[in-house]
Amino acid sequence: MGGDSPTSEMIDGRTSDNDCDKEDKGKRLWKKVKYQLIEYHSLPMFLRDNEFILGYYRSEWPLKQVFLSMFSIHNETLNVWTHLIGFFLFLFLTIYTATRAPDLVDLHYLQRLPDMIRSADFHKIHPELLNCLPSLPNLSDFKTSLPSMDFLSSVSGNLVELVTNCLPERLSHSYQTENSVPHGVSDDVMNMVAPLMVRPITRWPFFVFLGGAMFCLLASSTCHLLACHSARLSYIVLRCDYAGIAALIATSFYPPVYYSFMCNPFFCNLYLGFITILGIATMAFSLLPMFQGPKFRSTRASLFFGMGVSGVVPLVHKLILFRNRPEVLHTTCYEVLMGVLYGLGAVIYATRIPERWRPGKFDIAGHSHQLFHILVVAGAYTHYRAGLVYLRWRDLQGC
Ligand SMILES: [Zn+2]
Repeated sequence: MGGDSPTSEMIDGRTSDNDCDKEDKGKRLWKKVKYQLIEYHSLPMFLRDNEFILGYYRSEWPLKQVFLSMFSIHNETLNVWTHLIGFFLFLFLTIYTATRAPDLVDLHYLQRLPDMIRSADFHKIHPELLNCLPSLPNLSDFKTSLPSMDFLSSVSGNLVELVTNCLPERLSHSYQTENSVPHGVSDDVMNMVAPLMVRPITRWPFFVFLGGAMFCLLASSTCHLLACHSARLSYIVLRCDYAGIAALIATSFYPPVYYSFMCNPFFCNLYLGFITILGIATMAFSLLPMFQGPKFRSTRASLFFGMGVSGVVPLVHKLILFRNRPEVLHTTCYEVLMGVLYGLGAVIYATRIPERWRPGKFDIAGHSHQLFHILVVAGAYTHYRAGLVYLRWRDLQGC
């Protein structure tokens, strides 16, 4: 009988289990309440920014919860991810450009090689040049049959090297100045050989821009994730966000200015020096606490505006100098498109469209800041495409 009835130990055990359950439930409930998304009117002042976004706010959560919230739904989720994905896109483009861009140029001309060879007059080719190309014994056969892409790929790697080694030293720099071409070699040969002697020019201005874009996108994404933690952290990450925008604008000048004026050091240094000083000043105004007072608000706004608008000067100068070059028109089209994308982003950002039309309807997806983010990534990507055109132009043309 006694064995069937519950012992006092068992009763104690169940009681303590029940206590634990209650405690866990209590903790879970407390966490739920504590880390609940709240509405605009419940926000502390430092988080009140857009009165047309009514709900789904995180407010003063611990850092751990803030970090984990990047995988949950709230009104900043898409702001975090639009620029985080943008950051990884530019990281990929940086690695891709570092490893593949010169190949793209080679391939472009490789595809035209059969036509160039067919149109060349081999009777006029300097015999010394043919003797120098042991890996191409049947060069004249190209005139009658189209070489396969496999074959072209196999010879392309060392063809440039072979031809460059073969030619006299001053001829190997012939793409820099037409006056150095020896009279003994025909134009046909030069037309065929010169494009194959692609010598990639320096990439650092292009990588400066890619670095600026990555910094801006990562700073922005971090800012949107962390700003809700506390007033202090919000202040810090917002400053970094502004500095990132200044870095993106300033570094965007480097590829167009450097590659447009690389043969004109005075203007190259003038424009790059000017934008570098303006960029550093704007970043300092964004970051340093002593410039944060309301009396500096118009100075900060003027610096950002001045940086953006000053880009028009070198771009117009470039158009005047090289108006007949197709690459210059091509890059200008990209630059105008970039201006339209950034301009549209700024208008949407400032007017808070579409959420002002239907407050509360775009809290999670579709509000102005998300559209602004997408337009910034699109504008920066347009600039990347323009940068590739500059590289191709200067790789082939030199000065
Ligand atoms: Zn943002």
